[in-house]
Amino acid sequence: MLMLTREDVQLGCHAADWKGALAQAAAALVDAGRVSAEYGEGLLAREAQSSTYLGKGIAIPHGTPESRRYVRSTGVRVLQFPEGVAWHDGSRVNLLVTIAAQSDEHLDILRQLTHVLDRDGVAEFLARATSPDEVISTLSRQPVTAKLDAQTLCLGLPVKDRWELALAAAARLRHAGCVDAGFVATLAGQPPVSLGQGLWLVVGTAGVRTPALALATPDKPLRDDAGDVTGVFCLAAQGDGHRALLERLDALLAHGESARLLGLSAEAILSRLAGESTQAQTARVRLLNAHGLHARPAQALVQVAREQTVPVRVRLLEGSGEAVSTTSLSKVLGLGARRGQTLVFSAEGEGAAQAVSALVEAVLGGLGEPVTPLSEALEQAPAPLAPRKEPVAAPPVDEPLTAVPAAPGIAIAPAYVLRSPEFRYAERAQDAARERSRLDKALHGARQQLSAMVQRTVGNEVAQIMSIHLEMLEDPALRDPALESIGEGASAEAGWWRAIDTAARAQESLADRLLAERAADLRDVGRRVLGLLCGVELPTPPEHPYILVAEDVGPSDVARLDTAQVRGLVTARGGATSHSAILARALGIAAVAGAGEAVLALVSGVELIVDGELGRVVAAPSPTRRERTERRIQEQETRRQAAHARRHEEARTQDGHRVEVAANLGSTAHAADAVERGAEGVGLLRTEFVFMAHPQEPDLATQIAEYSKAFDALAGRPLVARTLDVGGDKPLPYWPMPQEDNPFLGLRGIRLTLTRPEVLETQLRALLTAAGTRPVRIMFPMVKDLEEFRAGKALFDKVQAQVRAADVQLGVMIEVPSCALLAPTLAKEADFFSIGTNDLTQYTLAIDRGHPRLSAQSDALHPGVLQLIRMTVEAAHAEGRWVGVCGELGSDPQAIPVLVGLGVDELSVSSRRVPLVKARVRELTLSRARELARLALQQPTAAAVREALENA
Ligand code: PEP
Ligand code: MG
Repeated sequence: MLMLTREDVQLGCHAADWKGALAQAAAALVDAGRVSAEYGEGLLAREAQSSTYLGKGIAIPHGTPESRRYVRSTGVRVLQFPEGVAWHDGSRVNLLVTIAAQSDEHLDILRQLTHVLDRDGVAEFLARATSPDEVISTLSRQPVTAKLDAQTLCLGLPVKDRWELALAAAARLRHAGCVDAGFVATLAGQPPVSLGQGLWLVVGTAGVRTPALALATPDKPLRDDAGDVTGVFCLAAQGDGHRALLERLDALLAHGESARLLGLSAEAILSRLAGESTQAQTARVRLLNAHGLHARPAQALVQVAREQTVPVRVRLLEGSGEAVSTTSLSKVLGLGARRGQTLVFSAEGEGAAQAVSALVEAVLGGLGEPVTPLSEALEQAPAPLAPRKEPVAAPPVDEPLTAVPAAPGIAIAPAYVLRSPEFRYAERAQDAARERSRLDKALHGARQQLSAMVQRTVGNEVAQIMSIHLEMLEDPALRDPALESIGEGASAEAGWWRAIDTAARAQESLADRLLAERAADLRDVGRRVLGLLCGVELPTPPEHPYILVAEDVGPSDVARLDTAQVRGLVTARGGATSHSAILARALGIAAVAGAGEAVLALVSGVELIVDGELGRVVAAPSPTRRERTERRIQEQETRRQAAHARRHEEARTQDGHRVEVAANLGSTAHAADAVERGAEGVGLLRTEFVFMAHPQEPDLATQIAEYSKAFDALAGRPLVARTLDVGGDKPLPYWPMPQEDNPFLGLRGIRLTLTRPEVLETQLRALLTAAGTRPVRIMFPMVKDLEEFRAGKALFDKVQAQVRAADVQLGVMIEVPSCALLAPTLAKEADFFSIGTNDLTQYTLAIDRGHPRLSAQSDALHPGVLQLIRMTVEAAHAEGRWVGVCGELGSDPQAIPVLVGLGVDELSVSSRRVPLVKARVRELTLSRARELARLALQQPTAAAVREALENA
């Protein structure tokens, strides 16, 4: 909050021009010890981006984000220029409120100032003020934020009359801290007055701390001695702070939809109270701007709003819910929206849908600022590889380099080392016409390159991708903004890359994962054109078989690999559970990860051996090693064919111990393929795909249809479905969540779904209904203890009592160490356990599974993780429950004997691995597996476990 003292205000300043005024303001902040002298440059740079003039003679100069490092402590200096100063945007400024802020505090200050702007005559008053106190009292008036949100709603109460509802609403305000007990007491004898349409109101002023409005509704249509009762509002009135709340009641009544309030969700009721009728077109969008909706992006938003044919309103989903006009800068600023919060736009009438989507697009595009998607926050935080002080030497020839086994298989082929090209260019250029023609020439060149590639690769997947790139090049949505930037003085390179980056970021924030992954294609196209502009040749993969060596490879890169040529994959970073590794396994490409920076120093063309099973890379192997490896490849091929031939047989050890082998699926579409590859069922259906593929929560019918596809394909084999596992780093755009510092330790998995029981209930109903008489196993992800399991089970029991599916088990995923430690308590109530070793390893070793530098150490064969698996299995078997492993460890050939020896009953692995996992089980005896498990448990580190197993 803006806390001004007399020292912060300087009256009677004079300046010849705006730069002089700004220099005085900067000097005032320096004198106050708030900033160092360099901050003055930041103020100027910010004005160069756009004016900070706010209105009513007030400007709010503040530094650019880059200049924040010159701020020593947050503070404000107010300078009064009674004669006014001509500002560079043509307005006249009497008051400079100059801000030094280290983070988002300036948003609060802005918010506060927007209330000043509402008042008439304030400009003249501030220009004439003769004492600092007058200025302080005008600027420092705290805006009152009235409270009306989900916390002040109590819906569906089993009551007999409106009196009871009034008291419930009053009590709710007391719980929310808006009123004291006295307030509730004074309302006890007060008759609710009718607002019409079944709505009633009680008002109190005694004991009010914050103006607020509560609503209580009955569980069913109610009629008492005074008439119909749809709901009773309770208003805590104070000064005129509750005026806005009354306006919102008016808005609700004006739409005449109050009778339909019963049964609506809290969110829908808040939407009605924000003035959105059922006919309104609404859309939500998360704000991505690093510093929230501060003056510049707010101006950009207002600009877009003014271009629309219908008025659009906006509110903050997480705020008090008051909707404001998007054409009012002060109102938009007054929202105080921060990064990660959700803006809800609404409009009505012809053109409403276009208007709303134009605003959503503008927000996604960053409103003139570069923005980063929320999910990228983690990836961007840590530095990538340590900066190179001196060139790193390539691995020595014919010596095995140890890395993380990421996808099984052995390959020999020349290396193709992928290094991102470096583009150097000037940001700005003088001659816009020349830059335009340079861009057009580069676009033409790129088109020719791509067409040639399409011709060459016709018929395969690469050709398809290249044709998509060609289409992207033709898209005016890329060329037009680039030309616009060039018109504003950007170089062709800078203008083009800005357009690409904006489009890619917007794409990345889409709910549909496949569409979101198109962002990588946009960047590829962007780089191709940039290469032509900068005269930098792009790396082109060889047309013969090769092993791709790269710093890291994103999932979309793996998906776009030309599988006809790529024999293996070596990454400097990453680990076995990174999603690219999971994909490499699905594609059947041998891969090692986390091989270290040295591999990037390899020369393309040098021969490499990649052993994805043992996690080894050998550069320039000797003829003897090469021959040995070729023999191993041959043996493996023979083994693969033998495994394939017996894929439909059970997996039993030589002494007859049966281990079930099932498939992990990320989509029901692959269930038939899993059966064809010998899977005895689905051991993990990651149901997120159903939720991610839709712009809203899929309804019951949609989910039933999806799950039925898998049950049909499985033809009586069991299906283990995990309930929705999103949240944290995997948000659903239509499921608003506060931003979290540690998303992996935050609201995810069962914790998140329990906050919206209706979503979980629908999913359970869909699974049970789709199953009917077929075997279904349902498990909850990220459970930490019995309490969470019981909460989920209560919903399950309720739904199952109605649906009565015939063959059902309810289990727990063991992914959190506490759950493994407490397995004896869980085993009494859960029907089965499935160990998610990917997350269990992450939480046991305290290593983020996607961490660019650490995930290489995140080896699930760590004795710490194995101990937890042992405890889980022992606890389960003591109660007669079965245990599966559905994490990636289940398909690690070195781990399979250990898991079998520990007593794991089922291994669920990617479909492609099913035959080989079965074959690996058949090679064992149970007694040998137990011996190996004991040996592994005795080791101190993961590396020691691997070594001991190799030598055993
Ligand atoms: C796991 O954590 O091991 C698991 C199977 O779940 P996911 O990889 O989908 O988080
Ligand atoms: Mg998991």
